[in-house]
Amino acid sequence: MRTLVVDHPLVTHKLTALRDAASDTATFRSLTAELVTLLAYEATREIRVQPSSVTTPVGVARGVKLARPVPLIVPVLRAGIGMLDGMTRLLPMAHVGFVGLRRDEESLMAETYANRLPSDLTDRDTFVLDPMLATGGTLATVISLLMDRGAASVTAICLLAAPEGLRHVEETFAADAGVPVVVVTAAVDDRLNERGYIVPGLGDAGDRLFGKV
Ligand code: URA
Repeated sequence: MRTLVVDHPLVTHKLTALRDAASDTATFRSLTAELVTLLAYEATREIRVQPSSVTTPVGVARGVKLARPVPLIVPVLRAGIGMLDGMTRLLPMAHVGFVGLRRDEESLMAETYANRLPSDLTDRDTFVLDPMLATGGTLATVISLLMDRGAASVTAICLLAAPEGLRHVEETFAADAGVPVVVVTAAVDDRLNERGYIVPGLGDAGDRLFGKV
């Protein structure tokens, strides 16, 4: 597994505003979308393309187009939905699958309650959207679901990551050398607290995007 920390000043600027406890829901949502688009730009650096030519008003230019089958974006319910707009802005042709996992607040273990993924992901680049890589349990489960279906690559886009979560994902897939797994994040924070929240983090991403339910 590879971790890519995008330390572009614009990313850090937006992340700082996102962390601010005083940012309201509207601000939090639009900052999230902007941040995801910036992270997605880096996350798609190795996306599969195929040669393609186009006729300009002056001649023929050689270029590329995205390879088929198109990439699959997988927002993890609920908070990952808040990242979908920012991602589809960059990849409007991508398909979208959904996975729902909830964290047992006692054990901090992830359990799957929804799964709308294609059964065959052969040759497909996949992009998981989950704002907070905390314990890593959720992300490891989603990566396994995608690998089991034959995904060509798995790239997770997380606004923030904890060292514990990165370690967990890395250890879980240490032996799976065949499928590239990349985590793209705006920052790696200090640690998790006793409730599994990232410190200093930004609080509960789902609540900040959608309100407490
Ligand atoms: N999920 C969140 O929303 N925030 C954290 O800090 C950790 C997990």
